[in-house]
Amino acid sequence: MSAFKILIDRLKGGQVQKIDLQITPEFLGLDEPELKFPSKVTAKGETYLTDEYLILHLKASTSVRMPCAVCNEMIDIPLKVDNLTHTEPISEIKGAIFDFSETLREALLIELPRTVECNGGKCTGREGLSPFLKTEKDRTHFPFKDLN
Ligand SMILES: [Zn+2]
Repeated sequence: MSAFKILIDRLKGGQVQKIDLQITPEFLGLDEPELKFPSKVTAKGETYLTDEYLILHLKASTSVRMPCAVCNEMIDIPLKVDNLTHTEPISEIKGAIFDFSETLREALLIELPRTVECNGGKCTGREGLSPFLKTEKDRTHFPFKDLN
């Protein structure tokens, strides 16, 4: 039984089911050299039924590992979904079991930043960049001096 499955029958009669999960991030289906999920996904919330809908409220958090846009060093930054509300028509839930892994996955992936920068947005590599280039330039010019 997947941790993501909600049994509709258990919610009948106005039951509110708490959701409190810590899950490995495999369900996100993403593990690339420049996009990794190094920690578990925490999801908390609740689910209940109205006359026609399953309602799901969730908060979720994990972290994502991506390269700094400036120095290319891999860094971990928090990834959060603050307030996800999902409504699913009960009539469309097959077998009276709703699996919310895809709902959670989409909500997290929407929050992915396009680019990240290390050191809280002030890449330490940025300061070092110009002295480094200068040194390289000087080195390149030494041999030509001798040619004259
Ligand atoms: Zn950086």
